[in-house]
Order: sequence, then C-alpha cells, then structure tokens
Amino acid sequence: MTGPEAERSRAGCIAANLATLRSRIAAACEAVGRRVDEVAVIAVTKTYPASDVRILTNLGIRDVGENRDQEAAPKAAECADLALRWHFVGQLQTNKVRSVVRYADVVHSVDRERLARELGTRARAVGREISCLVQVNLDPESAAGVLGPRGGADPRDVLSVADAVHAEEGLAVGGVMAVAPRGGDPAEAFGRLAEVAAQVRARYPQATVVSAGMSGDLEAAIASGATHLRIGTALLGDRAANVG
Ligand SMILES: *Cc1c(COP(=O)(O)O)cnc(C)c1O
Repeated sequence: MTGPEAERSRAGCIAANLATLRSRIAAACEAVGRRVDEVAVIAVTKTYPASDVRILTNLGIRDVGENRDQEAAPKAAECADLALRWHFVGQLQTNKVRSVVRYADVVHSVDRERLARELGTRARAVGREISCLVQVNLDPESAAGVLGPRGGADPRDVLSVADAVHAEEGLAVGGVMAVAPRGGDPAEAFGRLAEVAAQVRARYPQATVVSAGMSGDLEAAIASGATHLRIGTALLGDRAANVG
C-alpha cells in the first residue's frame, strides 16, 4: 500500500496507539492520585519519518523527541511549519551541539559541565534560549565519572552540572531526566531520581521537569512524579520492525 490510502491507515494506527497510551496514563495517574494534565507526552520519533510527525501533530501532540542529530536536524527542518517543541533526548557529543541548538528547545541529556558550556556558547551564537535537563545516571553498576552506555551524570555531580547550566546565558535549568537501568526495578530507580529532582528544585525552584518513563515503564515513572514521558514504541510501533 502506498499513497493516501497508506497514509490514512498509518494515521488510524497511530491514533489507536495514542488512545491506548492515554488510557494507560490515566490509569497510572488515577492509581497514585495525580491529574493527567500533570504528565506531558513527548513523542520520540527516532527512525520514523516526518510524515509520522505530521500525523502526531494532527492528533494534538506538540512535543517531539529525537536522539541523533543526523536524523533530527533534517526532520525538524521538514517540520518547521508545525510549531513543535523539539526535545533532544540522546547522548550529545560536543561537536554536535552547534547543530542541535538550531532546532532543539529542550536538551534532556546534559550530563557534564563542559557540555553545558558548549551549549551556552552555541545557543548565544544563534540567539536561542534552551531549556536543559540534567541527565542522571541511575545505574549503580557504572562507575562514577565514566559514561555508561546510556550516559548521565553521577547523582553526586548533578548539582554542579545544574550550576554550570545556570551560569550560561541562553540556557535555563529545566529539571532532570533519566532512563531506568536495564534489568533493574524501575520503581526503585525512579525513586532515586525523585530525590535528585528535589535537590535540584531546592536550588532552582523553576526546574520542575522530571523526564522519566518510556513505553515499558511509564507507570512506575508516573508513580515517582514524572512530569514528562518519552514515548516511542507505544505510539509508533516496534523500531526493530521499522527498517526502511
Ligand atoms: C528511544 C528513546 C525513548 C523511547 O523509548 P520507547 O521504549 O520506544 O518508548 C525514550 N528515551 C530515550 C532517551 C530514547 O532514546
């Protein structure tokens, strides 16, 4: 199937996925006495085309996440007419910062002071304001200071990274982000994230974002106070099945 017919059936599929996701979020909020409007959905569109971003926009999604600059930059350009908020959620090398600051509104993966300084320099150069979340490494297995496969600052270093963000004109400390360690208990991990989030908020009261929870663990994230969920698979399907 190609053309308008395929596009309609893709839209129907994504709409159904979004309805299922909304009811999961509602149930998870209900279970812990939170309101659904306290939890925002960021659609993580990596590996999926700009046409899917348009479908999501038609369904009311305004926040879109990507994890690789090479893919995100052209997709954001293709969708420039949509007035979306772009979230960069992947590990960020300093040599990609110059490109990322052109389209990203929020960078979720700020995990070292040098990266904060580079983001500040490059954001000022293009005259943009960028909200930065300090990514917290919740994997106790990976040694302090060593970038694990999923990145993130050691919990003990999070405040200094937040301070480095705060020191940069053009950047704002937005909050924290984390990915639950593979194989661990997400509830326990997100509980630790909530403690770090509270420490950051104590110093920077406006830093209210807790970006946690993906397709497989959003309930645990909501129970621990997540304000932003990063959802790929549950909206767009299994990326392993999405080749070409
Ligand atoms: C891909 C990705 C997600 C979305 O994961 P799903 O399990 O597909 O919902 C969330 N956060 C980050 C950092 C990602 O790279």
